[in-house]
Amino acid sequence: MSTFAALADLYAEMESAYEQVAVRLAFSCEGCPDNCCDSYFQHHTYLEWAYLWQGLSELPAERQAVYQARAREAVASYRTALSQGERPQVMCPVNDHGRCGLYRHRLLICRLHGAPASLTSPNGQRRQFPGCFRCQELTQGLSDVPTLDRTRFFKTMVRLEQEFLGARSRPRVKMTLAEMLLERPPG
Ligand code: SF4
Ligand code: SF4
Repeated sequence: MSTFAALADLYAEMESAYEQVAVRLAFSCEGCPDNCCDSYFQHHTYLEWAYLWQGLSELPAERQAVYQARAREAVASYRTALSQGERPQVMCPVNDHGRCGLYRHRLLICRLHGAPASLTSPNGQRRQFPGCFRCQELTQGLSDVPTLDRTRFFKTMVRLEQEFLGARSRPRVKMTLAEMLLERPPG
């Protein structure tokens, strides 16, 4: 199986696990007054970066140009906000009026954000994430909060990234999606 196919399988597993938590909580993004696609997220794998580019390259050239023009504006806005000591809040360049223009190729955090979650680090330390404000409203007062355990997804992502890079040694990625759209991943 190619690494891209393995990544697509991993994404499908994440979606299924997310859906199970969402169903138990009767949680959905439908009608939410917020939109998390304007959150400032940085991403960390060459594999996801390359997969995002695969999705981008499947789009008509005009659509790619629109997304890249928006990406340039987004990066400029990030710099302005960061230079003022603020956390950027800028709509993702591939968000088309609330719809994700690269839905099949969207990144890990796009798929996990929102639901209550936990993550156990290799040193055994366990972290809890309460979920977005809407989830927190739904879980308030619950004694048994359904939680998405991110650990196995992160572990698999690390393994796939290692397989993807093989013998190539690279500095760690720390890029926004907008930055990823403006630069081809190194071959
Ligand atoms: S994850 Fe939560 S805050 Fe974000 S859009 Fe969905 S419901 Fe709204
Ligand atoms: S890639 Fe899609 S889901 Fe992720 S932030 Fe952008 S528009 Fe939202």
